Amino acid sequence: MEYDIITKNKIKYITFKRLGNMPFIKHGFSTRLGGISEGVYSYLNLGFKTLDCPDKVKENIRKFALAVGVNYENLVMSDQVHGDTIKIVTNKNKGKDFPLQGDNKGIDGLVTDIPGIPLIAIFADCVPIFFVDTVKKIIGLAHAGWKGTKLKIGEKMVQTMVNVYGSKTGEITAVIGPSIGKCCYEVGKVVIEQFNKTFEDTSTFVEISRVSFNRLSGHENCSPNFQYHLDLWEANRIVLNGAGILNKNIIISNLCTGCNQDLFYSHRKEKGNTGRMGAIIQLV
Ligand SMILES: [Zn+2]
Repeated sequence: MEYDIITKNKIKYITFKRLGNMPFIKHGFSTRLGGISEGVYSYLNLGFKTLDCPDKVKENIRKFALAVGVNYENLVMSDQVHGDTIKIVTNKNKGKDFPLQGDNKGIDGLVTDIPGIPLIAIFADCVPIFFVDTVKKIIGLAHAGWKGTKLKIGEKMVQTMVNVYGSKTGEITAVIGPSIGKCCYEVGKVVIEQFNKTFEDTSTFVEISRVSFNRLSGHENCSPNFQYHLDLWEANRIVLNGAGILNKNIIISNLCTGCNQDLFYSHRKEKGNTGRMGAIIQLV
């Protein structure tokens, strides 16, 4: 197993063994357990973009930050618009770029080299990717749903670390956190066509799951209608490896949010009516 489940002050969260071995960072990925939200948001909902009470969401984020050991007051949160815009976080963003109090608009990736600024991003099925340059001590956090994966936000994160901070790709570790596995992720032709445009070969992460036939009235012919299982973990591994990260330094947590609803919110399994988890990473 690549992860541990930690309980602190009743908050349950996930840590990754590879990142846990790095004494210069703090990190965690929240579960739905330990917070104060109710109903479909029970219990540790971190999503401001839900209909949950914002004061409860804030309190849940504060509790999660405390459990991970970072300062809530200094958090910088990305907006998550399923794009590929990356922001370099500096001291002027510290504790400011957060919903309702700063400028986090249009951002799906955060990178910083400054200790003491916890980066946070919010998820329910989309893929969290943690980045650490273990030599130069640069960290990053990306939100990659199918759109971000198709846009190769992982590659753009690596390029940002290389271009802005002079990272060497062989010294970057990436962790693909809990998110929807291919077991629970079925998509239609429209999504796959998008991947065919940006990936040379999709055969290792797309497989046909079902085929049905629409019999057109008055016609003998049937048109096939394919559904596909999409493996966003493998697609992101390909992107990260293509960007220069060594396969031995790409860790997939293998935690499916759809299969583990006791632990995680799943946007897909709960038909959108659910809470959100958070990923935090900070340089010490
Ligand atoms: Zn699953």
